[in-house]
Amino acid sequence: MIGRGDNAGKQCGEDMRQLIAGNWKMNGLGATAMAELGALAKHVETTRPACDVLICPSATLIERAARHAKDRFAVGGQDCHAEASGAFTGDVSAEMLRDAGATAVIVGHSERRQFHGETDAIVQAKARAAWRAGLISIICIGETEPQRDAGHAHGVCRSQIEGSVPPGATPQNTAIAYEPVWAIGTGRTPTSPEIAAMHAHIRAGLGAPLRILYGGSVKPSNAKEILALPDVGGALVGGASLKASDFIQIVDACNRSP
Ligand code: PEP
Repeated sequence: MIGRGDNAGKQCGEDMRQLIAGNWKMNGLGATAMAELGALAKHVETTRPACDVLICPSATLIERAARHAKDRFAVGGQDCHAEASGAFTGDVSAEMLRDAGATAVIVGHSERRQFHGETDAIVQAKARAAWRAGLISIICIGETEPQRDAGHAHGVCRSQIEGSVPPGATPQNTAIAYEPVWAIGTGRTPTSPEIAAMHAHIRAGLGAPLRILYGGSVKPSNAKEILALPDVGGALVGGASLKASDFIQIVDACNRSP
């Protein structure tokens, strides 16, 4: 569920409103996290933003966050195992995320690909697992800086789409997040024409009209320009999602259907 009012009864992806998703990564402890979520929930309730809002906290906070959200925003995981259960110490399945109150999960984030050796095949298996559990998968793709410098950014992203997005992806079960690896957490972003060109390229390679989020150093000062670009279906926000006061400004920057 996404929220009240305009959002009531809708799953993330059910329509083509832009999606503003926060990726909290390995940050957040109960009391302060719930205070930030409280501020976000109040803002959503009073302003009824024109976009869908999703927060992906650590797995330990999902249940509390979902209880706190009371449908004013959606809650998602940051990763899941491809299997539903089994001897996989430390892992969390898509079914467990769902059970805790999540409605979506990020898969294939570059930090998972880089630090946990996740291949396109693994990412695709995780996206299928998300669907199996009734979760929306947010599949991340993006080139590294050397790949971009070598002129391979479009080819890398096309190949990641082919390898990571399972057949059967629909706007109801999947969103793509284009996150240039060199832009994540660095304060650097591609130019607006570069983002628009990449999103058009990704759009051309998809078999369904999925939302394509941009991610990588989105902040209050650049959100409006990025979210106004063609084929930008929302944003995946890391650092600037941790403080409700920043994240709210990004939510408010979104005021159109893609
Ligand atoms: C991310 O890690 O998904 C991300 C977009 O991070 P940041 O916004 O901090 O660059």
